[in-house]
Amino acid sequence: MTAATTKRVLLAKPRGYCAGVDRAVLAVEKALEKYGAPIYVRKEIVHNKHVVSTLESKGAIFVQETDEVPEGSVVIFSAHGVSPVVHEQAKERNLRAIDATCPLVTKVHAEARRFAANDYDILLIGHEGHEEVEGTLGEAPHRTQLVDNTDDIASLQVRDESRVVWLSQTTLSVDETLETVDKLKARFPLLQSPPSDDIC
Ligand code: SF4
Repeated sequence: MTAATTKRVLLAKPRGYCAGVDRAVLAVEKALEKYGAPIYVRKEIVHNKHVVSTLESKGAIFVQETDEVPEGSVVIFSAHGVSPVVHEQAKERNLRAIDATCPLVTKVHAEARRFAANDYDILLIGHEGHEEVEGTLGEAPHRTQLVDNTDDIASLQVRDESRVVWLSQTTLSVDETLETVDKLKARFPLLQSPPSDDIC
């Protein structure tokens, strides 16, 4: 009998995209295994045609909005996160929702809720219409103003300049965001920063 040999298998980074998206893709694969096809996925889970078509061939169906999902089906929310309204819509349609929101995005949502509950105005630096921004805005829609570019700063109105905080979309450039923060601070000197940097 030959001595046992141990083989070490080294895996290259399998997919080449961020950890949050990787986690969401895995959630779709696991849901397909557990519940069987079809599994509905709200929004494109990853900008990679090969991965999307592979998931489709296994039974994933990509939709833009929750109302495209048949009542009672399984739906996965993508890594960029959704607003509370989307969770409500899923409940109303009796969907089994699997939330694959990236933990870093979940953290920004929690910050938005906490600052809004403490009566802050929130200046959210991010791109209008971006899925992640829509989700974060939805956490505190009456307390949050979007800063898409520095031209927006002049028209911002806050209720109390000592209770203003900035938050950001996680996928922005750090340098550009900090430039925007400097310009916001020039307008609102007491502007507070989030407890930690949320840029990915
Ligand atoms: S925050 Fe966004 S970019 Fe960063 S890991 Fe999560 S999903 Fe990916």
